[in-house]
Amino acid sequence: SEWEKRVKSSSKIRSKSGFSVLVTGAAGFVGTHVSAALHHRGDGVLGLDNFNDYYDITLKRARQDLLQKSGIYILEGDINDAVLVKKLFEVVHFTHVMHLAAQAGVRYAMKNPKSYVHSNIDGFVNLLEICKSAEPQPAIVWASSSSVYGLNTKVPFSETDRTDQPASLYAATKKSGEEIAHAYNHIYGLSLTGLRFFTVYGPWGRPDMAYFLFTKNILKGKAIRVYESGDHGTVSRDFTYIDDIVKGCLGALDTAEKSTGSSGKKKGDAQFRVFNLGNTSPVSVSDLVSILEKLLKVKAKRRVMKLPRNGDVQFTHANISLAQRAFGYKPTTDLQTGLKKFVRWYEGYYGLRKKSHH
Ligand code: NAD
Repeated sequence: SEWEKRVKSSSKIRSKSGFSVLVTGAAGFVGTHVSAALHHRGDGVLGLDNFNDYYDITLKRARQDLLQKSGIYILEGDINDAVLVKKLFEVVHFTHVMHLAAQAGVRYAMKNPKSYVHSNIDGFVNLLEICKSAEPQPAIVWASSSSVYGLNTKVPFSETDRTDQPASLYAATKKSGEEIAHAYNHIYGLSLTGLRFFTVYGPWGRPDMAYFLFTKNILKGKAIRVYESGDHGTVSRDFTYIDDIVKGCLGALDTAEKSTGSSGKKKGDAQFRVFNLGNTSPVSVSDLVSILEKLLKVKAKRRVMKLPRNGDVQFTHANISLAQRAFGYKPTTDLQTGLKKFVRWYEGYYGLRKKSHH
């Protein structure tokens, strides 16, 4: 069928690595960049995304267009659709799964708690069930989150720090994902690597995130709410540029060992890893706004407030030495440089760049 042809051609491997990767959440922010990078180096890539309306679908469609123009196919479907996902594994023998599909955002959980359980827990389990029975069993790299550190106040955050105090339902489902993954690794010998991303930003970013909302409202002359402090001092984030995150994702994929399967071999042999992927230099939200003011050449109307208990934690700060040792992860983009690239993209995408008169 036409469908199978497109799936197969998109998954065609052109590199020596021999990787064929299923990317879930491929029309998402991180998924778009990771898919493009994998395709660019010659790996076979098939995208899967349900195009939900958590944020502007036009932006997801634009990312899809961008990828499809370079020959990457993004199938519209849900990770909970067992029939569809099983069929994909029959048509393509994926060597790897890059699982990025999720219900993201911490505040939206107050409005729609079930969407978090649906995508981040049920959907993940559905995917793992299919991977465990797939032949060959793919190695899986998936997105966890820095939010698992919750109320932890010991900085920088190391992978061995406590993660038993989530501050949001989003964090709770991401933490559950890590425990579910561990169980699948232990019982079925699936190779699993979790990546705890720290506040990722950049071109094609997510419109629900603070840096994006600030840019939009500063340009419109609208007031912005800046949560400067909380119970424990300044509110800050370890903002990490998308290209650095992509390098980390590829590093994790490249060093992922094969799944061992549960038959014959000693159980628990396969790899289970969890890594922080951050920038290691947190910036206060207040300084983030100042950088944006300079780049946009507009003064923000700041409404300075104290952080309420809305799911946001007060600060994040990654210790990245584990990822550095495992696959040479080393972020190279500071916030100023990265935001400049974001702003350029934003102005271009929304047609705001000043046209020359000639
Ligand atoms: P995103 O929302 O842009 O991308 C997620 C994509 O998954 C979306 O396109 C969405 O349509 C799709 N999706 C959601 N539920 C699905 C389902 N049930 N079936 C199929 N597709 C589904 O978010 P992002 O910023 O690109 O995040 C990617 C991953 O990284 C997520 O797992 C997120 O939780 C995690 N993460 C992101 C950040 C960040 O700062 N961006 C930080 C920590 C963790």
